[in-house]
Amino acid sequence: MSTGFDGIDLVAVRSPTLPPATHTNAWILGVESLTVVDPASPWDDEQQRLFEHLWARAESGVPVERIFLTHHHLDHVSGAMDLKARLAKRDVHVPIVAHEQTARLVADRVEVAHHVADREVLDCGGLPFVAHHTPGHAPGHLALHQEASGAVIAGDMVAGVGTIAIDPSEGDLQQYLDSLEHLRSLAPSALMPAHGPILEHADTVLSFYVAHRNGRSDQIRAALAETGSASPLELAPTIYPELDPAFHPIAAAQILTHLKWLGDHGLVRAADGDRWCAE
Ligand SMILES: [Zn+2]
Repeated sequence: MSTGFDGIDLVAVRSPTLPPATHTNAWILGVESLTVVDPASPWDDEQQRLFEHLWARAESGVPVERIFLTHHHLDHVSGAMDLKARLAKRDVHVPIVAHEQTARLVADRVEVAHHVADREVLDCGGLPFVAHHTPGHAPGHLALHQEASGAVIAGDMVAGVGTIAIDPSEGDLQQYLDSLEHLRSLAPSALMPAHGPILEHADTVLSFYVAHRNGRSDQIRAALAETGSASPLELAPTIYPELDPAFHPIAAAQILTHLKWLGDHGLVRAADGDRWCAE
């Protein structure tokens, strides 16, 4: 599917992602050769569909040059080795590239041939894209900035459908907020997320994400001040009143991410067990 941006196409593949999202966008970058971002499907029919699209492009003289991973999550990397293998059967050998920390986290599943550094310029078939290390959602997260058009391949920094989760065991809210501000400083013309449609008005979107997270931290701090002390799960119905209780454990993980951030800023502290209290 064409995006209206020269040298940026899209095939969305069904992937094991979090609802309400069902698909991951495989962004296909380049004019003379192609860089495939996040071929994510572990399922044969979807892998075949992506391959057929790419092979048609190859037969028209535009071959795949590399596979690029924004970060290590399963709904981003699960089709990478399969795509590499399908191409290899046709004697096309492409490297998988990612940030060093992503490579470390997928080492048992995906063979990463090149570590992409912060600010490294990738020539994607005649179009330069600058990689920006944007940790927070995942430690090795990279976004790709096409300076000529202002488009940013945003991975899981923002979402066109659903929200971005920060897992308290591997994510970091302060890093994520810093990475959102960093993307804002690039003044993107559009954000191309891994899930859902292209987001225009990038500055508004990024400001909203920062404000939303800061608002959530304030809300959690206020709730703790009211109750004295509580666990993340006990806070879930107050912080997410609309949410089906079946999802409270997932919500509790987001609350814990914010509690850790509040704790780092001296605004709350860990108490007995998994309880936290206001300072
Ligand atoms: Zn992710």
